Amino acid sequence: MNVRSLVPSNRPAAFLALFCLLSLVFSAIHAAYLVHLMKDDARERLLACSAKETALVQTTFDDRFAQLELLAASCSGLPDREARLSRLSDLFGGREEAACFGLAENDGRVYFLDSRQDVLTGELRDAVESGVPRALTSARLSPDALYELVYLVPLSRDDPAAGALLYRDADPFWEHLAPNSSENPILVREDGQILLPGRSGEVQLSLFQLAGDSAAEAREQLSADLAARRTGTLSFRFRGSHLALAAAPLETEGWFLVSFLDLDANRSSLLQALVLSLAIDLVLLLVFLSLFLLYRRGQRQTLRHLEHAAFVDPVTGGDNQTRFSLRAQELLRTRPPGTYALVSCDIQAFSLINRSFGEAAGNRVLCHLHACLKQKLRSGELAARVAQDQFILLLFQSAEEDMRARMEETARYFNAFNRNLRNPYYLPLAFGICPAGDPSLLLSDLCDRANLARKRAKRLPGGTLCSCAFYQPADRQRLLLDLDISNRMESALERGEFQLYLQPKVSLSTRSVVGAEALVRWRDPQGGFVEPDVFIPVLERNGFITQLDLYMFEQSCLCLRRWMDCGVPPLPISVNFSRVNLGRDILSRFRQLQEKWSVPPELLEFEFTETLVAENPQFFAELVQEIHRCGFHCSIDDFGSGYSSLHMLQQVPADTLKLDKSLFDGLLNADLRPRSELVVRSVLEMARQLGMTTVAEGISEEAQLSALERLPCDMVQGYYFSRPLPAEEFYNAFLHPPESGS
Ligand code: C2E
Ligand code: MG
Ligand code: MG
Repeated sequence: MNVRSLVPSNRPAAFLALFCLLSLVFSAIHAAYLVHLMKDDARERLLACSAKETALVQTTFDDRFAQLELLAASCSGLPDREARLSRLSDLFGGREEAACFGLAENDGRVYFLDSRQDVLTGELRDAVESGVPRALTSARLSPDALYELVYLVPLSRDDPAAGALLYRDADPFWEHLAPNSSENPILVREDGQILLPGRSGEVQLSLFQLAGDSAAEAREQLSADLAARRTGTLSFRFRGSHLALAAAPLETEGWFLVSFLDLDANRSSLLQALVLSLAIDLVLLLVFLSLFLLYRRGQRQTLRHLEHAAFVDPVTGGDNQTRFSLRAQELLRTRPPGTYALVSCDIQAFSLINRSFGEAAGNRVLCHLHACLKQKLRSGELAARVAQDQFILLLFQSAEEDMRARMEETARYFNAFNRNLRNPYYLPLAFGICPAGDPSLLLSDLCDRANLARKRAKRLPGGTLCSCAFYQPADRQRLLLDLDISNRMESALERGEFQLYLQPKVSLSTRSVVGAEALVRWRDPQGGFVEPDVFIPVLERNGFITQLDLYMFEQSCLCLRRWMDCGVPPLPISVNFSRVNLGRDILSRFRQLQEKWSVPPELLEFEFTETLVAENPQFFAELVQEIHRCGFHCSIDDFGSGYSSLHMLQQVPADTLKLDKSLFDGLLNADLRPRSELVVRSVLEMARQLGMTTVAEGISEEAQLSALERLPCDMVQGYYFSRPLPAEEFYNAFLHPPESGS
């Protein structure tokens, strides 16, 4: 299963992305619309302004002409100039406006109300003589020599010689002619010539000159509009400002009123709106983008967590079984069959580490093993922890010896931490190897087979640091047997199918039975007699051995109780102590049983195998002390069967040393006997020096016994004297006092 399928879908992210895209498109459309509005708005505002101003100016012209015509009519009947001036003075004398009025005579002279006189020339004089109301622009009469508007209305329509009433408007409503605002319209002629210059005195000759930088086409269009007496518009740049003008026709003199609009000022508010809108869009976009990124980040984090939970082993931080399986399947699929071998690995007696030193220490050991396994991997190989102390490796397959050498090197590397320790603590590794040559086998099949091989490896004699086995078809048979035993063991214990057998320990000097070893026998009503070598390893693997050892211990106590109750001097009985019991605080339970049957503790002894003690002498040194505190005895069993450690003997103050049967095999061989005797003698001598009682195990031949008699050995156990016997038979054979008279 792909962990990504567990992650929530990408649909919200897609929606968010779509939203961002849409908001961008919307912003662009909105901006374009605003620009369009800006243009339309400017044109409409200009035309509206122009229409308003044109109406206003036209009204002003009309009112002024009407006023002057009335005044002219009232003055025309007066006899002479003096009377007319006097009439005007009566009407306007004392007012500021009075200086604007004058009487223009046909000879070109002008008489103002404030007694000034002037002479009219050119256009002005022609206008007087024309005898029709006229409006002109001129600087001629202005004391400041500034252009002003001059109205001329004939005093009499019938008599042009009567002269004209003149009105000089130096301050028309459009006084500020600088073309920078719609407030300051100007007057132009049909040909575009400007009639009134600005206050600054600067004279722009022509409207077209003023709008010189506008497009030629636009200027031509304006010119055509003026010629057709239509309102025309034009936009242009003037002194850095972007302006638009509208020239609207007036009825007076065929003039045009030109209104201006500062496009920049007009645009600024719209631009502000545009910028604001874009800014809001941008902020929204950024907000959504941030949300989107946050969402993506959260999603990625979730994915990482899920991936971690799905694929990472919480103890070692390396791959877990799921990831290993995915990768291994991929590698096995893509490489030719026979490229790889599957290797199962675990630490012998790992549960002991957990129980003795705590889970944290156990986890540190697992991390160390993981690091060592990874260190020894080649490119293209895999390793992962799959269960408690169980690791699985996918390694390149090579010759059996090479692979064994590789496993041994790995185990040495793993145990290298002991190199500088005063009290080394060796952790033997067990490896099971299954070559991946058959492509029809699933990865799980390969793993099962490697596990079976590993379990067999654990039972193999030899290697202290590394035991290694290759998968064999017989492993599967053994597995089935294991399952069968596991299924039946509990009911077998309940039904009393496990029986106590005792094998005597005979004093070599007196040839009398001085003790016994308790050995279990399983009399299975279905399967018949089952050998301890068959079922004990199974019970050790599934942990049931603890219950069996307690049972055997209690049976031994019961036996002692009966002997004592019968009045015979009881013989000490030794019971075997499985490695599985270590660290389980089982001693107190043994003690309870011993107290339950009121058996002296010194009659009970625990046998620990040499390999078990050698694995951790320091631990056993403490355990032996505890056993002694309880009053029990203890022995080291099978000494000489493995790599016997003298360091172990030095550290562990056991009471008895049981020498393994294999040590005495040499005594049967004439060639080996001298060397064999020497070794056995030395060991026995050393044990004696250490104050330990010695037992020679597995003595079945006269030759072995006679050789032993020459050596300082205390006791002998073996078929020579007796096979293990049911408790009752043992009693009858060795303890039952001979019936008198028989
Ligand atoms: P062990 O403790 O070393 O027991 C001695 C084994 O050697 C016994 O095998 C015994 O029958 C056998 N033996 C004694 N004399 C001779 C001899 O002269 N020749 C030969 N060939 N064998 C001899 P057994 O009873 O089959 O037990 C095998 C192992 O199973 C024991 O080795 C012990 O480690 C384990 N075992 C037996 N009973 C128990 C038990 O109740 N609890 C536990 N934890 N282990 C047990
Ligand atoms: Mg034993
Ligand atoms: Mg033994």
